[in-house]
Amino acid sequence: VNQEIDYDTAEEIAMEFDVLCEKEEVVDVIEELLKEEEEDENTMEKRPPVVCVMGHVDHGKTSLLDAIRHTNVIDREAGGITQHIGAYVVDVNGEKITFLDTPGHEAFTAMRMRGANSTDIAILVVAADDGVMPQTVEAINHAKAAGIEIIVAINKIDKPSANVERVKQELTEYELIAEDWGGSTVFVPVSAHTGEGISDLLEMILLTAEVLELKANPKREARGLVIEAQLDKGKGSVATVLVQKGTLHVGDAIAAGSAHGKVRAMMDDKGRRVKEAGPSKPVEILGLNDVPKAGEIFVGCATEKEARNFAETFISQNKMKLLEETKSKMSLDDLFSQ
Ligand code: GDP
Ligand code: MG
Repeated sequence: VNQEIDYDTAEEIAMEFDVLCEKEEVVDVIEELLKEEEEDENTMEKRPPVVCVMGHVDHGKTSLLDAIRHTNVIDREAGGITQHIGAYVVDVNGEKITFLDTPGHEAFTAMRMRGANSTDIAILVVAADDGVMPQTVEAINHAKAAGIEIIVAINKIDKPSANVERVKQELTEYELIAEDWGGSTVFVPVSAHTGEGISDLLEMILLTAEVLELKANPKREARGLVIEAQLDKGKGSVATVLVQKGTLHVGDAIAAGSAHGKVRAMMDDKGRRVKEAGPSKPVEILGLNDVPKAGEIFVGCATEKEARNFAETFISQNKMKLLEETKSKMSLDDLFSQ
């Protein structure tokens, strides 16, 4: 009973005990529902890049996001009133960049499970006075596994102990090689404190996005991801969603994981009421009957009935999955008690 066995052996034994009973099939129903035809190239239009910030703790992720937010002209015009909805849009000379500022990798992992990437570009923040640290490496692995483009922001260059070249040298080990070191990775030295390099960083994001040719069809039913959601005493279920394809309108029927409903109201990241939201736009929506999980896919539906069906399928699917998991746990217990 105490002997360690490798995965292959465990799988074989589990098969014998019928533990892995068609787990694949259980997952398939939702995947089937989410399946889509390939989009006609002619319907595709340019969309803003969606960017996340990753890196080791205390290297300045939050500070950098704040610094970027404050360079936003529109913010200043609105008197600096920004609402926290887990994402915000920055306007750079008429071009938009969407930043996700949800903490942690949780949502990220959930989104990847559904095969949908939330982001196009990851900003890897590395403190110039500290260099590559364990979570830096973790972030690199995450981004690479997801196939996301990496831009390196070497932060805290205002510090006397900053050593930009050392960071570049350390990152060569992870195949992130700066142009002046003979590679093709974009490195931008910045200071979240003084604001130095921030506009260069924004420019490099837009250049990278240009190369990636990010596109989506705005004229179809909306689809995207739940970034965060909670229950509000007055408003009910409040969910921030990122529209990835199509356009979401007030009044649209919608399903998001186990939740469904009709979009009653939408707010953008500046707290303004909006009637519609197209590709790469984050919005807060009201009107769902329940609180969906971060990372779930949302779909715009033709009718409220269709939305309800989707949510019900999702719920029963999850119940089945839970049942399977419990069953396999029980079987394993049985196995160990023999
Ligand atoms: P996070 O954990 O990656 O989100 O890091 P924070 O943004 O919370 O920053 C960690 C610490 O580094 C804070 O004390 C910041 O004030 C400081 N910090 C962040 N950016 C800079 C910078 O550009 N220069 C200096 N000198 N300090 C910075
Ligand atoms: Mg932080």
